[in-house]
Amino acid sequence: MKSWDSPTLPSLGTGGLVPSIFNSSSGELQPATVSDTAQMYVCGITPYDATHLGHANTYLAYDTLNRALRDAGIKVHYVQNVTDVDDPLLERAKSTGADWSQLAQTQIELFRTDMQALRILPPDEYIGVVETIQEIAEACKQLLESGFGYWVESEDGKADLYFDCRVAEQNSAWKLGEVSGLTPGEMIALFAERGGDPDRLGKRNRLDPLLWRAKRENEPSWSTTIGEGRPGWHIECSVIGAKFLDAPIQLSGGGSDLLFPHQEMSAAHSAALLGKRWSQCYSNAGMLHLDGEKMSKSRGNLVFVSSLLREGIDPRVIRLALLNHHYRSDWEWQQADLDHAKGRLNRWLNWSASRFQETKSTDSNFALVKAMRNAVSNDLDTPSALELVDWRVLSETPASAIELAAINALLGIELD
Ligand SMILES: [Zn+2]
Repeated sequence: MKSWDSPTLPSLGTGGLVPSIFNSSSGELQPATVSDTAQMYVCGITPYDATHLGHANTYLAYDTLNRALRDAGIKVHYVQNVTDVDDPLLERAKSTGADWSQLAQTQIELFRTDMQALRILPPDEYIGVVETIQEIAEACKQLLESGFGYWVESEDGKADLYFDCRVAEQNSAWKLGEVSGLTPGEMIALFAERGGDPDRLGKRNRLDPLLWRAKRENEPSWSTTIGEGRPGWHIECSVIGAKFLDAPIQLSGGGSDLLFPHQEMSAAHSAALLGKRWSQCYSNAGMLHLDGEKMSKSRGNLVFVSSLLREGIDPRVIRLALLNHHYRSDWEWQQADLDHAKGRLNRWLNWSASRFQETKSTDSNFALVKAMRNAVSNDLDTPSALELVDWRVLSETPASAIELAAINALLGIELD
C-alpha cells in the first residue's frame, strides 16, 4: 500500500558516523551495520487507535536511526507492515458497530497524515497483511509440511494451525528466549497478557503461537492453500520481512512491548522458514505513560498526535518533546513536555532568523555538526543533541546554513 511523502533530507557531506544501537537480545551496544547497507524492519501499527504518542515515539526513534545511517552514507532499505486484520481491530470494530475494513482504512490514512506532519521518513515498502494473505498462507503450509506446524481442534469443530516451539528449537537456528532474554516463567506471563493463549487445550507446548486461524462466523476470512481463515500475528512479519529483505537483516525494531512474544516468535518462524537467523539486532523503544500507567489502547489513556495538531500545536513541538527523552526510556507524558518544547522551538527559530547570508561555513559551525553526529550515533542520544543546539543558540552568534541543515537532517526539525 502507499506510504506517505518523504520530507526533504539535506546532505551534510562526508563525516557522518555509523550509529551504535542497543541490542535488546544481547544487552549491549553494537554498530547498526558493518557494511555500506542496512536492512531495517519496524513493526507497524494495528490500525484502530492511530496515532497516539507512544506510536509516534517508536517511529520517531527509527526515523532518527534512519537519518543517522543515511548521514553516514549507508544505503537503507526500510520495510514496515500494517496489521490490518487481527483480533484487537476486529474487537474494536464490533464494539463500535463499524466495518473492520473501513475502520482500518480510516486509521491507516490518519497514521500517514500524522507521520507526514511529523516529518518521519517513509519506509521503502509499507505492506498490509490483507494484501499478503496468500503468501502468508503459503508460508503456513510450508511450516506444516516441514514439521514445524500442527493442527489443534477446538470445541466448535474448527482446526487452527499452531507453531511447535520445541520442534523449532531442535531443527532451526532459533532457541526460545534468545531474542527476548526472558525466563520461561516470564514468557508464560507475558504470552497471556499480550494476545497468546498458553492454556488452550490441545497445544503441544504452552508458548506455541497461532499461525493460522480457521474461518469463524462473523470474522473476515480468505480462501487459501491452507484452508479458509486468517493469519496469526507473528507470521505476518516473518513473511512480509522476507519478501523484501534478505536474512540476516541488520535491525528488527518496535516498541518494547513487542519484544515478547511478537519479535521472539516472528524470529522463530523466520528461522524455520529461511533456515537462518532473521536479525542481527532486536531494538526496542520505551513506553510512554500517562497518569502513572502505560499509554495503551486497552487502558484508554491515549494522547493522539492528530488531537495535538488540531489544537494548533506545531508538529515540530511534538517532535522536540519526544526527542527530549532517550528513545529507550519509559517516561511520563506531561503538559510540561509540550511547554518546554514550545519554548525551545521559539528560541531556535529566533536564532535561525538571525542567520548570516554567508557564502561558506566556518570551523565553529562544523563543530556543532560534528558534536550532533557524535551524540546521535551514540545509541540515538537525541536529548544530548538537543542540548548541543541549545548551547549554540545561547551563544548568540548567528546561525549558519550547515548548522540548520544538520538540525534538519539529523533531528528532522526544519528551521529555515
Ligand atoms: Zn511485527
